[in-house]
Amino acid sequence: VEFILGLPKAELHAHLNGCVGMEVLFELADEFVEGIGFEQVPPNSNDIGEFFKVFGVIYGLVSTREALGRVTRGVLGGFIGRECEYLELRTTPRRLGRSSLEEYLETVLDEVERYPKEKAGLIVSVDRRMPVATESESESEEGITVEEVVNLAIEMKKQGRRVVGVDVCGDPRSGDMELLKPFMGKVREVGLGLTVHIAEIPGSVSGDTQHLLSFTPDRIGHGTFLSEKEKEIVLERRIPVEVCLSSNIICKTVPDLASHHIRYYLERDHPIVLCTDDTLPFRTSLTAEYALLLAKPPFGLGLSREEVRRVAEWSLEYIFVPAFILSDLFI
Ligand code: IMP
Repeated sequence: VEFILGLPKAELHAHLNGCVGMEVLFELADEFVEGIGFEQVPPNSNDIGEFFKVFGVIYGLVSTREALGRVTRGVLGGFIGRECEYLELRTTPRRLGRSSLEEYLETVLDEVERYPKEKAGLIVSVDRRMPVATESESESEEGITVEEVVNLAIEMKKQGRRVVGVDVCGDPRSGDMELLKPFMGKVREVGLGLTVHIAEIPGSVSGDTQHLLSFTPDRIGHGTFLSEKEKEIVLERRIPVEVCLSSNIICKTVPDLASHHIRYYLERDHPIVLCTDDTLPFRTSLTAEYALLLAKPPFGLGLSREEVRRVAEWSLEYIFVPAFILSDLFI
C-alpha cells in the first residue's frame, strides 16, 4: 500500500454522486427522515437498469444545494492529497428543487475551486437519456437537454470557471448518439476535453460506438466491447482508455480480471488510466484499484512495480488541462 500511496497519480473517471461517502449519506438520510428535503425528492424513474436505480436513491438524498455542496466537499477531500495528486471529477447537472442547472454547477464548482487548478477540475456530464434539444420528444422527466448542458459547460468555461471537459455517460441502452454530434463538435471547438462512455455492454445500439468515436474523443471510458476494428482506431489514434476494474467486474460486463481488456492495451503499451468510476456502489478506492494491478492472479493482474508506475504516469499525462499549466505535477 505504501508503494501505491507514494505513486503520483490522477483520478480521471469518478462520478460525483457515485462517490458520495457513506457517512455523509447517512447524515443526509437522518435529516431526510426528520422531514428536511422531503419536497425536493425527484420522482423515481422505473425505466432504467438495475445499476442505475441506485442513483435514484442517492439523488433523493442529495436533493438540496446545501447537501450537494457537502457531498462534493467530501468527495474532493477523500481523493485529493490522499489517493491522488489531481482529480477530474465529473457530474451531471440536475435541478434541485427550484434551483437551476447553472446553480447546480456553481455549487459544485465553488467546492472544486477551493483547490488550486493543479489539484482539481470539473467534467460536465451529459446523460445519454437526455433529449438532445427542447423540440425533441422528452425522455427525461426533468426535461433537461443535451443542448442546455453543453451550452452551460461552454458558458461557464468562458466565465473562467474550472470546467475542463465534457463526458457522455448514463444507461448505455438509451439514446441515439448520432444526434449528439453537433453538440460534441461545439465542445471540441471551445477547447474543452471530451470523454465518452463507450461499448460498455455487448451488442450496443447499432452504430453507437462508431458515432461516439466520430466525435474524436480525447479519452474513452470502459470500451469493454469494442470490435477489433474499433480497437484498431483506438490504438491508431492513441486514445487513452479509462479503465474501472471493480466496476466492470461488479456490473458483470467482464467475467474476471484474467479476461479484462486492460491486458490487451497493456500488451501494446497503449495508455490506460486506472479509475474508480463510483466508489460507493463498488465499495472501492483508487488505492484498491491500483492494488488489483499489483496483486498476484487470481486476485489481481500481477503487474510489476515498474508497470504500475507507468500506469500512474499515464494518468497524469492524459488529464484535460494542458501539461504546461500543471508543470508542478511533472517535476
Ligand atoms: P452524477 O453525474 O454526479 O449524478 O453521478 C451519477 C451518474 O453518473 C449516474 O446517474 C449515471 O448517469 C452516471 N454513471 C455512473 N456510473 C456509470 C457507468 O458505469 N456508466 C455510465 N454512466 C454512469
